[in-house]
This record gives sequence, structure tokens and C-alpha cells, in this order.
Amino acid sequence: MKRREIVKVLGLGAAAAGLAACTEQKAPVADCKPVETPAAAPAKPETIEWKMVTTWPKNFPGLGTGANQLAELIGQMSGGRIKVKVYGAKELVGALEIFDAVSRGTAEMGHGAAYYWKGKTRAAQFFAAVPFGLTAQEMNSWLYHGGGMELWEEIYAEFGLVPGAAGNTGVQMGGWFNREINSVEDLKGLKMRIPGLGGEVLKRAGGTPVLLPGGEIFPSLQSGAIDATEWVGPYNDLAFGLHKAAKYYYYPGWHEPGTTLECFINKEAFEKLPEDLQIIVRNAVRVANQDMLADFTAKNNRALEQLVNEHGVELRQFPDEVLSQLKALSDEVVAEEAAKDPMTQKVFDSFVKFRDQATKWHAVSEQAYLNARSL
Ligand code: CA
Repeated sequence: MKRREIVKVLGLGAAAAGLAACTEQKAPVADCKPVETPAAAPAKPETIEWKMVTTWPKNFPGLGTGANQLAELIGQMSGGRIKVKVYGAKELVGALEIFDAVSRGTAEMGHGAAYYWKGKTRAAQFFAAVPFGLTAQEMNSWLYHGGGMELWEEIYAEFGLVPGAAGNTGVQMGGWFNREINSVEDLKGLKMRIPGLGGEVLKRAGGTPVLLPGGEIFPSLQSGAIDATEWVGPYNDLAFGLHKAAKYYYYPGWHEPGTTLECFINKEAFEKLPEDLQIIVRNAVRVANQDMLADFTAKNNRALEQLVNEHGVELRQFPDEVLSQLKALSDEVVAEEAAKDPMTQKVFDSFVKFRDQATKWHAVSEQAYLNARSL
């Protein structure tokens, strides 16, 4: 038996004792017998088996694969002590049932996006995306070093959950349109698939937000049942074939500037873990968070080239006048939303304070540099 295998069979403590004895005696490995200390020998480490339920179809590019990667990371980083089995939407529970399922312990982990739970806790929206909110980098800074995570933990604790940022799409695209948008007037009467607070903003601009699940977007756009849709970014949009149903591809995605994906863990299951495994799980989530953004960036780069060069998509930037009016409407909508309950107001205050600081710093750093690079 190889040393590694012995370690595996015996469990770490007993194997280490046995191997030390063998090494000292320089005995052939095959003759090595474990030192017999039955009372003191720790049992083979138990494998903790967890279920992760997700809001994504199984293996959905970027989001579902991000959930898979997190499960793998937890397995690898824990040396196999935790095994996480991932379930796509509807495999164990429906996409929008995962919050409750993990809360009551049907599964130990969930992977989704916090704005899906606004019906349970309005403040959750700030931990996914709000119109004209934070970019991916700014979200991570607010969460990890700006007080955001503590607020998120406080809110989810009421549901028996421990939250974590587990991925980010980066800035999304503004969407696919079958008519040009040259002024806010052009948004009037526009039927667009755009969920959440972004949809509310469109409504105030005179448009009609439509809620459609992923699978119905393409046929609705193609048939003219809707005039426009947003989805994610080039990578996911290309996979959905949206370029075959609309002429113009507008940017930027003012309504989802750095959508954060989440994982949440049943609090009781998490607290039952020994401290080292708790640290491992938290850090696996951090790695997954960073890696999903890197994955999206690399794949969006390539997909955008393909859309423009191979499929002849017409890329258009929303005019400044349209964006500045959408921003004014967004500020109204988000502030009104925050005022609906004290917790949401508390999160909003922290979020807006951070955004204002980040706006000043990024004006002279990221933004100034990106502008300089494209001169
Ligand atoms: Ca979107």
C-alpha cells in the first residue's frame, strides 16, 4: 500500500503514528502494521454530505456551472470531508423554492440571486443588483470591507441562513431592441422583458415591463409579443440566440451593473461544522465569487466579437440623455423602495454612502483609466 492509501484507510492520526514507527525501523512498507491503539484511534473522518439546490437549470452556462464549481471547490478544499451534490431547478425543489428549502433544512445550501427573495425581505435586492448601483468590484468592496456583509448576515439570520456572495456577471447589457432608442420618447409604449426595479423604472419612463421566464423570451421577441428584452450579456445572450430575434444590441446594462449571485447555507448545518471546515467553506465561496466574474469576462469578450463580426449585430449605446433620465427615475424608484421598511432603509443608506464614495474614487481611477485607454 502506498503511504497515501494507508492514510486514507486508517484516518490521519492512526496512520501518522504507524508510519512514524515504520520509518524509524526502516521496515518495508508492506510489513507495516498499524500501531494498535483502538481506544485512542480516531474514527475515519466522516464525510459530510450536503445538497445544494439552485435557481438555475442544471449546468446553465456561467450561473449553473458556477454553482457546480463551488461544490467542487468545497470538496477539494476540505480534502473530501464535505461532499456537495448540486441540484438544478426542479430536480429537488422549484427554482423559487430554494430559499425556503434551505431555510427549513431540506437542503443545506442554495445558489441563486438575492433579488428573487424581495417578497420575503425587500432589502435582499441590494445584495444582487439595483439600477445604477454598484459594479462587481464595488459590490465586493462594500460586502467584504464596507459593512455590507454584516447587514446581509443580519437579514438572512432571521431565516436561519448564512449568506455569501458566490459569483458576479459583471456589467450586463442593456438588451435587445427591435427599434432604435434615440430619446426617452422611444421608451413610451415599449413592451420589454425586464424584471425587478429596472422594470419599475421602465414603467415610469412610459414603457411596459413584461415578466417572462428564460424559455419564453426568444419566441416572444421573435413573434413581436414583446419589443425588447434584457437577459445577461454576450455570452448568455448568444447561447439563447437573441441576435436572431432583434436588430439592435444596446449597452450598458444600467439596471444590472454588477449582479451578484449568492449562496446561502442552512445556519444550523453551518454551525455544526468544525471551525476549520467553516473557514474552508467561507473561502471556497470567495474563490467561486471571484472566478465566476473572471469566467464571465473572458467569455463575454469572445462572445461580443462573435456577435458583431460573425452575426452582424448592431451595437448601440443608449444616448446620454436617455441614461441620465433613467438614472433620475432609478434614484426615485430605489429610494421609495428603501423607505418601505426600516431594514431596507438601513441597507440603502449603507449602500448609497458606499456608492457615492466609490463614484468619486473610481472617477479618478478605473473610469479615468478606461477612458484613457480607449482614446
Ligand atoms: Ca438581466
